Amino acid sequence: MAENLTDIFGIDVFNETVMAERLPKKTFVALKKTIDNGEELEPMVAEVVANAMKDWAIEKGATHFTHWFQPMTGMTAEKHDSFIFPAPAGKVIMEFSGKELIKGEPDASSFPSGGLRATFEARGYTAWDCTSPAFLKEDAAGVTLCIPTAFCSYTGEALDKKTPLLRSMEALSKQAVRVLHLFGDTDVKNVSCSVGPEQEYFLIDKGKYLQREDLIFTGRTLFGAMPPKGQELDDHYFGSIKERVAAFMKELNTELWKLGVLAKTQHNEVAPAQHELAPIYGTANIATDHNQLVMECMKKIANRQGLTCLLHEKPFAGVSGSGKHDNWSMVTDTGKNLLNPGKMPHENIKFLFFLSAVIKAVDEHAELLRLSASNPGNDHRLGATEAPPAIISMFLGEQLDDILEQLISNGTAATSKQGGKLLIGVHSIPYIKKDATDRNRTSPFAFTGNKFEFRMVGSSMSVAGPNTVLNTIVADALSQMADELEKAKDFDKAVIKLIKKTVTEHKRIVFNGNGYSDEWIMEAEKRGLPHVKSMVEAIPFLTTEKSVAMFERQGVLSRVELESRAEINYENYSKAINIEAKTMTEMASKLYIPAVIKYVKELADSVNAVKNAVPDADVSVQEELIRKISDLLCKAQKALNVLKEKEAEAVTKEEGAARANYFHDEVFTAMGQLREPIDALELIVDKKAWPVPTYGDLLFEV
Ligand code: ADP
Ligand code: MG
Repeated sequence: MAENLTDIFGIDVFNETVMAERLPKKTFVALKKTIDNGEELEPMVAEVVANAMKDWAIEKGATHFTHWFQPMTGMTAEKHDSFIFPAPAGKVIMEFSGKELIKGEPDASSFPSGGLRATFEARGYTAWDCTSPAFLKEDAAGVTLCIPTAFCSYTGEALDKKTPLLRSMEALSKQAVRVLHLFGDTDVKNVSCSVGPEQEYFLIDKGKYLQREDLIFTGRTLFGAMPPKGQELDDHYFGSIKERVAAFMKELNTELWKLGVLAKTQHNEVAPAQHELAPIYGTANIATDHNQLVMECMKKIANRQGLTCLLHEKPFAGVSGSGKHDNWSMVTDTGKNLLNPGKMPHENIKFLFFLSAVIKAVDEHAELLRLSASNPGNDHRLGATEAPPAIISMFLGEQLDDILEQLISNGTAATSKQGGKLLIGVHSIPYIKKDATDRNRTSPFAFTGNKFEFRMVGSSMSVAGPNTVLNTIVADALSQMADELEKAKDFDKAVIKLIKKTVTEHKRIVFNGNGYSDEWIMEAEKRGLPHVKSMVEAIPFLTTEKSVAMFERQGVLSRVELESRAEINYENYSKAINIEAKTMTEMASKLYIPAVIKYVKELADSVNAVKNAVPDADVSVQEELIRKISDLLCKAQKALNVLKEKEAEAVTKEEGAARANYFHDEVFTAMGQLREPIDALELIVDKKAWPVPTYGDLLFEV
């Protein structure tokens, strides 16, 4: 591929450059006003944009367009329409109107709505989100013009992940601008949040993937013993990239660059067969759309290359799972990052003010953040044996911690600790300046220089949810703090006092130590921090009076929308575990148990054959093995029966919380009990007799 990166970057995007080239100046200016300042869009403008968009897309080979939206499945949805319009004499012309650009009406009654729409009132609308550029998608179906849209019900309730995100961005902007104007920054008109999601994933051989029903149906292995080697040598992390994986990364990057995604970093991750891609950050809305495209492209390209990309949070027990670090900060339209501490953070009152607002927000609504990172897959990570813990705390680092301490004890801060020189001990190595603070990889919510890194998010999740929560809770904290400041007579004094008060009240959320340790769990309990252990435990926090009031105050989600989202969460959980349980049942009864029975018979036959040939031969080894295997086989069959019973019982429970809790407490536990004897069998049964590829085959043979 001799293509030059700068030549291909963004060629499949109807971006500002293309718009400036193809739209009449007046239309371009009007559209920019809508994009930048949220001003209402005139129908005539849409008409002209639609026409230009169509011409551009058709020149690039497009035959269809689609409203591309993000329903509550967490994935993207599309329904394609061709541009054709009948013309005289049996011909067609290509048409695309402003109305078709702005509004779509997919009969989307089968998307999760949590009771917001009965199926007999199935109308749902998609509405153009002009803040995220349209793009072209090329696949076996040809070229399709994709128009990012929001998806809502007939009565205007959000049925998707994008609408609340856009609302939360507006809320955050409004409150941050309010605060900045109090600080005298009256030139700021808009504050956006920037997001950089780091995406972890696994790549395995497609042929082997196709031999595992559990991977096909659930995205994770439901059985599988650990191979002799796992990740203990840390030799995969940042290791040199294998040819096959490198070829995948190359094609992926090219495709993403064409789509205008700023794919930047790639490397091997901790677990064998695990990798990561990070883009350069962008506005939350576009970053969210782009992350969806990243996940989609990963799957598509892996498939093309005889590989399979696993985005599940825990595809393999016993090795690290995958997450998505959500890097987040706030930026003004004048280009200032509000979370940039500068060289002397103790003098940077504005920074300290925004920092204290984030501290307050995270402390007051830790449960909501926890929920925003919850899905059935992430239950295997959060609070289990790996990163990060289920308790939300914030890492600020030595420098900021010291400044906050000064503020709390003296009412002012006089100094900022500095990083200084890095002493490597080799004189030929160039002089390197050290950061003022080290990193902490065990913290779920860590300050990393000029942004926060929310590390709890699961690898398969849309980042819309976590960022909606973050934006909203910070907007709410800012609005409360702005209320106080607006009443103050002496602004300068009031600001310092308010920062001190806020930090003092919420300091319990700050923790700079080891988040994985048992001591921290005890310490966190003492501090009164919530320890929400699972997704089903987290869901109720969405609809507490406190949460409803906060979301409604900020105009992000209404009570009915929140209630419907809680329902969808319960439903998603129950369905996911139900599919896993059924898959386990099927694999155990149709694959593992029959294979083992056959193998035991072979062993028994061989014992008889040996005894026939040499009557006094010692066959104790075979006999011992037969006994062991038969024992485990009995255990497996018993566990299988229990799982079947529990699964049948679960679906009789009332839909919603009761059913989800039963799946969590009973079915999920029974699944673990079936896995145990099967995994033990895998370790003693002849590899040739084992019916599916093992962890060793899947993780080390790409
Ligand atoms: P690390 O692994 O050290 O966390 P990466 O380069 O893998 O670093 O990822 C850091 C992510 O944070 C990138 O996506 C980067 O663009 C993003 N990022 C950097 N600065 C900001 C910021 N101000 N706001 C949001 N995201 C940011
Ligand atoms: Mg990171």
